[in-house]
Amino acid sequence: MTPSAHFDLTPWNTFGMKAYADWGLAFDSLAELQQILLDDRWRNLPRLVLGGGSNILFTSDFSGLVLVNAMKGIDVTECDDAWSLHVAAGENWHQLVQWSLSQGMAGLENMALIPGSVGAAPVQNIGAYGVEVCRYCSYVDVWDLDLQQQLRIPAQECGFGYRESRFKQEWQHSRIITAVGFKLPKQWQAVTGYGPLRELGSQVTAQQIFNTVCQLRLEKLPQPEQLGNAGSFFKNPTVDAGKAAALQAEYPVMPAYPQADGSVKLAAGWLIERAGLKGLEMGRAAVHAQQALVLVNLGGAAAFEIVKLAKHVQQRVHEQFGIKLTPEVRFMGTTGEVTLDEACSCAD
Ligand SMILES: Cc1cc2nc3c(=O)[nH]c(=O)nc-3n(C[C@H](O)[C@H](O)[C@H](O)COP(=O)(O)OP(=O)(O)OC[C@H]3O[C@@H](n4cnc5c(N)ncnc54)[C@H](O)[C@@H]3O)c2cc1C
Repeated sequence: MTPSAHFDLTPWNTFGMKAYADWGLAFDSLAELQQILLDDRWRNLPRLVLGGGSNILFTSDFSGLVLVNAMKGIDVTECDDAWSLHVAAGENWHQLVQWSLSQGMAGLENMALIPGSVGAAPVQNIGAYGVEVCRYCSYVDVWDLDLQQQLRIPAQECGFGYRESRFKQEWQHSRIITAVGFKLPKQWQAVTGYGPLRELGSQVTAQQIFNTVCQLRLEKLPQPEQLGNAGSFFKNPTVDAGKAAALQAEYPVMPAYPQADGSVKLAAGWLIERAGLKGLEMGRAAVHAQQALVLVNLGGAAAFEIVKLAKHVQQRVHEQFGIKLTPEVRFMGTTGEVTLDEACSCAD
């Protein structure tokens, strides 16, 4: 297979942005990936690896090669106390959660219905309802472009943090994730400490958690097929204890979550709502009326409309609370990732 010219990125981003890449291809094997990367026609072009495009805002067309990871396959091995899953990067995340539960392997249920691919899950260490993927990830297999070889990176070396990993930063251009290893202990423990899951009680099953998480997400979050979006637009900010105490004195109902290192995590959605921005529409972009952390494409929005709204939200929250929100969504410019400020200056 060779890459197609003028590759339509519209089906490959959940914001529903109309954009094209100079070249693009969905690859389904390591051999195919290697062949393309060794070919002189493609090897020096700006490159972007995509799963489902559910964490990306294309701010322009992409002057380079887009590689959609479509590698499939799940292998399971078993020992006395755990199942080990080796999952190809192009598998769909939610389908993996569903399938593992159907096989009696519990653990991933709190992360049901997170859109996207298995290969992207370690990139921002996806998480929901009190569980992050790093809890069960044992290794990540990559194709290393500098060494021209496949490597297995143990989870401890991936630099996992809150919506962070080394794949997002230092390895962004040098390592393509081809598979992810998971270890699911047979001694399953429910994680129900988060929000409405608390009501499920102590006798809960993994399937009940899965069902509840799916129901909550379907009620709470706009579905990208109906209203383009990329989930939480900003990360929940962390502040020092002094700053948190000062804010709590002013806003006693403000949610605040003390962290092990003494810092305090705040809810970005609450800050946005409290700043009076919930439901705000600017052109064809809006802060979602039910979920203030999600910015949506009301239909036919241009990237600059989303970007300008995001900047406005960031500025207003900063003015009111003295906190600068960091985007969770990645902005893709003409030849690679750009910051919100860079995307904004291009939009002016
Ligand atoms: C409605 C909605 C709800 C969401 N809810 C959550 C949530 O609860 N929790 C959460 O954490 N996230 C959430 N997200 C964000 C998103 O689902 C995750 O970030 C997901 O992991 C992205 O997967 P993807 O395959 O679509 O990645 P893409 O958007 O295609 O890519 C994301 C980044 O990962 C890189 N990447 C992708 N695949 C590879 C690979 N194989 N090798 C190297 N780099 C790669 C890309 O280059 C890009 O930088 C939500 C998104 C939406 C639209």
